[in-house]
Amino acid sequence: MSIVTRFAPSPNGMLHLGHAYAAIVAHDLAQARGGRFLLRIEDIDGARSQPELPDAFRADLAWLGLKWEEVPAQSTRLADYAEAAVRLESEGLLYRCVCTRTEIVAAARVAGLEGPIYPGTCKGRAVDLALPHVLRLDVAEALRYTGPLVWVDEMAGEQAARPELLGDVVLVRKDEPASYHLAATLDDAADGVTLVTRGRDLFTASHVHRLLQALLGLALPVWHHHPLLLDEQGRKLAKRRGSPAVADLRLAGGDGLLLAQQLRLRRFPAGISLERA
Ligand code: GLU
Repeated sequence: MSIVTRFAPSPNGMLHLGHAYAAIVAHDLAQARGGRFLLRIEDIDGARSQPELPDAFRADLAWLGLKWEEVPAQSTRLADYAEAAVRLESEGLLYRCVCTRTEIVAAARVAGLEGPIYPGTCKGRAVDLALPHVLRLDVAEALRYTGPLVWVDEMAGEQAARPELLGDVVLVRKDEPASYHLAATLDDAADGVTLVTRGRDLFTASHVHRLLQALLGLALPVWHHHPLLLDEQGRKLAKRRGSPAVADLRLAGGDGLLLAQQLRLRRFPAGISLERA
């Protein structure tokens, strides 16, 4: 079976070196195994999505010497997300939640939950349908339905799925028919992704995605969570903390092929390092 990997940036900020590294990892894994490398623009982040950014992303990837196949952006797939949500709701696996962020933080603190993990305030509660609401996955009920699940990360090995680590996540947002979890899981299956390649910061999300795959009868991929690039303080790179944008390096006349080669060799600019295994 031919391998399919993907890079799935959200257009809510320019790509930085951490994104460049992620794209190169996904690209090179596909290339080394004679597979396909996909680009998917994850643009359902409402007001935070900036329409001009996808073109800058494409220019950045080309400057780094990568070749990809682009699949439809998330904003074109809303009907598919809505259909999956209706199905899960009809199976009694979703519940309406009207809690505000402040209420969730306060209730989670009282319950001693980190994250904050949603403490289940609206589960089993009659909610006024006129109020704006999200739909949350009832993880305990969903696990009763599927039984124990496992998934495989190429780097970390076999994992017992623990979707409860993220609590009853939002699957349908107030303003969009899907959250990241629902949209990305459906898209990876629809795009035929066989190796979900992304940073270790999303490792926990994969427990939830495994559960969604079981609930929705989707094909099971393997995952590859790569280590993250860190700044001098050991924090993951972020544009807001001053990590240089790939587009700035490109527009300043830098050599993208050389940069990509250095990232592959793990020769990072001063102050940047790779998270330890
Ligand atoms: N769109 C997500 C991001 O930009 C990545 C999601 C994924 O790779 O699954 O952080």
